[in-house]
Amino acid sequence: MNKNAFRQLSYGVYVVSTWDHGRATGCTANSAMQITSDPATIAVSINHDNYTNSCIQDTGRFALSILGEHSDPGIIGVFGFKSGKDHNKFNEVESAVKSYLPVVADACAYIVCEVIDKMETSSHTVFLGKVVDADVLKKDDPMTYAYYHNVIKGKSPKNAPTYIAEEALTGSADSAQTSAGGAVQPAKYVCSICGYEYDGDTPFEELPEDYVCPICGQPKSVFEKK
Ligand code: FE
Repeated sequence: MNKNAFRQLSYGVYVVSTWDHGRATGCTANSAMQITSDPATIAVSINHDNYTNSCIQDTGRFALSILGEHSDPGIIGVFGFKSGKDHNKFNEVESAVKSYLPVVADACAYIVCEVIDKMETSSHTVFLGKVVDADVLKKDDPMTYAYYHNVIKGKSPKNAPTYIAEEALTGSADSAQTSAGGAVQPAKYVCSICGYEYDGDTPFEELPEDYVCPICGQPKSVFEKK
């Protein structure tokens, strides 16, 4: 099986949010899709290990904030690489309440759903939600997972349904360290927390000591040379 084929599926980048006993919480998701148009229903897949999963089970409601290409990539770090169990993620981003649910203000659109069914898999719950509210927040192109991967240089958290271990992608462009002509490429510096690959014009070694990962906000010291 060539898992590179999975990379040919298209996904967006979303924050799925709900309440945890009156406290807003949420996590990133890329497996979300519209299932039917009338009534409008949405399916999202959330890992059992994500704290948001149990919160959606409790409240029976969730909101989908659809991130745009111009949304702050730091939002993905806050919602994708920290646990909502002991971290108030919504304290770090601008939010709004729409139809009684918290959404990310810097998203290009939101959809609020009421859970009408769910399916358990070995690792994830697929929630089926009836849409009760939706609106566009700003003019922007929705961020696709390909854009996140290729332009922002971000990676999937390990509990994403679409996560593929890099070692499983043998022969992928990501693993190439030499060019077609055989010349050695400059060393890559990759954030060990979120997988962000530094690609700025300034050599990584010359970045100031207070440099932080633009995705997860962790310091320069957590970057590893690849
Ligand atoms: Fe990072």
